[in-house]
Amino acid sequence: MKTLFVFLFCYASIAHSAGPDLTLTHEKYVNLSAGSYYLLDNQFGIVDVMSLPNNHWQINETDNFNLGYTPETYWVKVSFNLPRDTNGYFLEIAYPVLDSIKLYLMQGDEVLSYLKLGDKQHFEDRQIKHHNFILPIDENIQGALTLYVRVNSTSALQLPIRLWSQPSFYESDQIATLFLGIYFGLMSIMAIYNVLMYFSLKDTTFLYYVVYVSAIIAFYFSLSGLGFRYLWQGSLWWNDQSILFFLLAAVLAGTSFIVKLLELHKNSKILYRGCLLLFAIGVCLLFASMYFSYGTMIRVIILYASFACLWGVITRTIKLFEGTHFSTYYSLAWNAALCGGIILAANKLNFIPNNWFTEHALTIGTSIEVACLSFAMAERINSERKKRFIAQAKSMTEIRKANMQLEAEVNNRTKELQTAYDKLKHISRIDELTQVLNRRSLNDALNTECLRAKRFGHSVSLLMVDIDHFKKINDTYGHQCGDKCITHVASVLRKTCTRAGDVVARYGGEEFCILLPECNEGDAFDLAELIRRHTEASVVKFEDSIIKLTISVGIATKWGVDLEPHELVKQSDMALYFAKQHGRNQVSLGSVLDS
Ligand code: GH3
Ligand code: MG
Ligand code: MG
Repeated sequence: MKTLFVFLFCYASIAHSAGPDLTLTHEKYVNLSAGSYYLLDNQFGIVDVMSLPNNHWQINETDNFNLGYTPETYWVKVSFNLPRDTNGYFLEIAYPVLDSIKLYLMQGDEVLSYLKLGDKQHFEDRQIKHHNFILPIDENIQGALTLYVRVNSTSALQLPIRLWSQPSFYESDQIATLFLGIYFGLMSIMAIYNVLMYFSLKDTTFLYYVVYVSAIIAFYFSLSGLGFRYLWQGSLWWNDQSILFFLLAAVLAGTSFIVKLLELHKNSKILYRGCLLLFAIGVCLLFASMYFSYGTMIRVIILYASFACLWGVITRTIKLFEGTHFSTYYSLAWNAALCGGIILAANKLNFIPNNWFTEHALTIGTSIEVACLSFAMAERINSERKKRFIAQAKSMTEIRKANMQLEAEVNNRTKELQTAYDKLKHISRIDELTQVLNRRSLNDALNTECLRAKRFGHSVSLLMVDIDHFKKINDTYGHQCGDKCITHVASVLRKTCTRAGDVVARYGGEEFCILLPECNEGDAFDLAELIRRHTEASVVKFEDSIIKLTISVGIATKWGVDLEPHELVKQSDMALYFAKQHGRNQVSLGSVLDS
């Protein structure tokens, strides 16, 4: 209520005085910049400017006093009526980077207060320790007053003059400090979070982003006067330089970040070269800022930074239209901060009016950026996980496919090996010409059957078969015919010996053996006779000839201790010899010969 009363009083009084109209722009302070007067300094002293007639002064018709970047010194005057307040007042110049300010608070011709301020003075010299410039007004001062300000700065010449009652100022300052704290806190958390993300994901994009966010924090810390207030109170040179340095650092880190993020070196040569050029210019400006005056450099660097921001937005937008993979959140975050930067720069260069929004554009932009980035980070982690999952699934499929191929190959090879093995086994066991068992198989079978027969007390019979007068067939019809005859006899033997366990084998030449396990002499004889008769009854056709064959058979039957393979062979051979001797085409028993 009290504050409101002050404002109303000011407003009412000034409205009827010869001074400028004051406009109420805020419920807690009076904006004295609105309707103030200014003139270019011409080596004037306070006495000179006080005596100048009104037509020498130019009225400031905007709410904010902003002359942009100018090397000139200006005088500003504002008249107002002050009611008595036991708490006293503060006059605040809410722009902390002004170089030199001289404040004269006059009542008529009397100087009530005089204060020299500006960031070219050590911070400790300030009467009120605040990052903005403060002129305290004693509680006894009241009535019609005029404030004269002599100001110059290498920064933008903005002069937001605010009149506060002291309690309102402290109250409002606490809230402003709280918000600044939240802002810096948020930004710092973001930087720390990205450092952790870097350690966890080992992706250097996060590191670039950390440098970028840190540079933005530092730049805003310098610009808001907080750096001068808390960190480099004694260093006037660095106070100017820090703004240039951190602004350039932010642009350089930001450019590197966008190159890395969008992988411009792979995706777009033109955009990549543009970024490289920007980077190179930035490095040159960094060195130049050490040798040239702040006033010159700040203008160049702000133009450079604005262009870099614009380039960032263009690059980002082109990549969005091209449908580059990266998240929309990142784009939104990045563009919000860049737009904030552009608006702030345009404000400082006096292209757009100074108001709360333009003054805080960077804060708003970077805050939106921080909010969007937390989503972007989450999405990035998600997409990394998805990528890894897909890659894993893909490699699993590949491995499974390779395994299946390998398995199929192994199966094929095993089958081939098995076939080859079977073939080899067959070759090693079977006689090639007749396809009955060969001599080796006969020997194996003889050994096995003799052992078995001994164990179970059975008898074993062996038939030795020989084709009669075979030499003659060879001689008459040729060896091919002889082969056919041998094959024919083998087939007769095979067809006749159908009992399971009987073994038909080629002993050698045109001789065959038939091993008959668990077979007595009588049965062996009957079988031999059957074979003989079948052979005799059959014919072999070769070319135009019909050949009739006969065979002689010798039989050996043994059991018990006498049962030895060689004994069986020997006896059957002797029996065969006997059959041959007695006219051929007959069967003879070995047992008969023994007795
Ligand atoms: P015998 O009645 O006394 O048995 O008279 P033989 O003519 O059959 O006499 P022998 O058993 O001694 O003759 C066997 C002949 O069989 C000798 C050899 O030339 C022939 N021979 C041996 N193996 C083969 C073969 O694989 N193919 C052919 N075509 N002839 C063979
Ligand atoms: Mg023979
Ligand atoms: Mg013969």
